[in-house]
Order: sequence, then structure tokens, then C-alpha cells
Amino acid sequence: MLDAIRSIRPLDILDILIVSFIIYRIILLIRGTRAVQMLVGIALIIIIYFLSGKFELQTLHWLLKTFLGSILVVMVILFQTDIRRALTQMGKASFFSNRNVANRDIEEIVRAATYMARRRIGALLVIERGTGLRDYLDTGHRLDARLKAELLVAIFLPASPMHDGGVIIHQGRIHSSGCLLPLSQNPAIDKRYGTRHRAALGLSEETDAIVIVVSEETQEISLVQKGRITAFHDEKALTVALKTQLASRKTPPRLMRWFNTRKNPASHA
Ligand code: ATP
Ligand code: MG
Repeated sequence: MLDAIRSIRPLDILDILIVSFIIYRIILLIRGTRAVQMLVGIALIIIIYFLSGKFELQTLHWLLKTFLGSILVVMVILFQTDIRRALTQMGKASFFSNRNVANRDIEEIVRAATYMARRRIGALLVIERGTGLRDYLDTGHRLDARLKAELLVAIFLPASPMHDGGVIIHQGRIHSSGCLLPLSQNPAIDKRYGTRHRAALGLSEETDAIVIVVSEETQEISLVQKGRITAFHDEKALTVALKTQLASRKTPPRLMRWFNTRKNPASHA
């Protein structure tokens, strides 16, 4: 026993620490998603496989052995959304990202959302953060317009040809409208939420974007982030929540702040 302990090298400890960290991150990533149920299912199959071997149930054992032989491919197919999300989160360039939305812009967004809620105009507003939303921007109509509450309302008026889909706010500007977002597949979502809310949840599961949904049915304004939805009835509370979320980003290093100011002088005005 002592010999075994003595034979552990510092590199083995590093190895164990890295693997533990990876497992911990995977658990954090899949917690609360349907991937957990699937993993439980796969674990059950593995247990049955060993039991069938032990009790010599040959046909069952052979069947499960064949299935488990291709488990890697099965896992990639089953977990493709989670794998994509994990890789996107790993690869997101938070070092280069800027604070996209200034306080003035948050006030415009809140003003538009409360106006639309009062008049039962449904809306879907996406604020891009670290993860690039190129795939979704390309599905809409490019506007590249200044962020103004009146323009947001005009876009979402039911008579507007661009009212369907979401508006994406990129670097403090209305980049595109009519963007198609991925619908969440989470079976635990409350049945009262329709496709607008599911699209907001879906995007927030895959990216770090903040999504604001105005419901035309309930007149509720919701803030959606990381697959979680929070309803707001009060303009002030929504403003505070948005400012907190958008300010909670790490301050970029001094060099990057300088770089960002060169790149986009208006954003630091
Ligand atoms: P509300 O509370 O406003 O009724 P809801 O969650 O019940 O919202 P629906 O009533 O189904 O949702 O909303 C339909 C609208 O949601 C569509 O007209 C469209 O503008 C938007 N929408 C639906 N699917 C998507 C999608 N995949 N991406 C972006 N927007 C979508
Ligand atoms: Mg509806």
C-alpha cells in the first residue's frame, strides 16, 4: 500500500486533477438537461451488459455488446447539441469581447419592451455577448441601425413585414431582424410557453446571449439566460437586472481596453 502511494509521481497528481476538472465541467454543463436522463439510461445498459455476462444470458449479452461497441457514435448523435454548446463555450473569444451594450442602450431596450408589453406587441430581442451569433444573424434581414426604442417597436408591430423572428443586437447596434433562433428541446419547459419563448430558451442554452421576450399573450417581459427564464413586471427591476448582467463581465485587460477603444471609439464615449 505504502509502495503504491510512494510510486505516485507529481505528474500523476496533475493527470488526476485535470481529469477531475474535465468531469466536473461536464457535470456542470449537462446538469438540468436531458443529457442526464440519457446518461442514466446508458449506465443502466452497461450494468445489464455485465449482469448478462455474469449470468450467461448469451443472446442479451451479445446484443448489448454490439450496441456498446458503437456507443461512441451513438453518444455523438445523442449529445450533439451539448457537444456543440460545450465546444462553442470553450472557443468563445471572451478575451477579445467588448462590453457590447452601454447603459443608454439598455434604457432604449427596456423602453421598447415596456411599450410593446403594454400594447400586446410580441417581441424577441437578443443581446449578443461573447459567443458570436453569425449563424443566426445570417437568417434575418440585415439592418445595421442605431439602437432606438422607436425602431424596435416599428420592427415588431404586427403589420411590419419584419415582425416575425428575433432582433439581434450586436456591438450596440440593431444588426438584423427576423432572425430564426433554435427552439429548445428541453421537455421540462412550462407548457404555457410557445415558440417565441422556446426560441429564446434554445438560443440561451447554446450561447451566452441574453434574450428579452415580450409576450403578446400575457404582456409579460422575460429575461432569458443560460436556459433560465425570469419574468419582470417592473421596468426598474428589468433595467437593474440587465445592467447587472451586462456589467458582470470581466473587465478586459488594459491592453485589450486600449485595443477596443481604437477599434470602436463610439462604444467608450
Ligand atoms: P406569446 O406569449 O407572445 O404568444 P409564445 O411563446 O406563446 O409567445 P408564439 O405565440 O408561438 O410563442 O409566438 C410565435 C412567434 O414567435 C412567431 O410569430 C415568431 O415571431 C416567433 N418565433 C417562433 N419561432 C421562432 C424561432 N425559431 N426563432 C425566432 N422567432 C420565432
Ligand atoms: Mg403564443
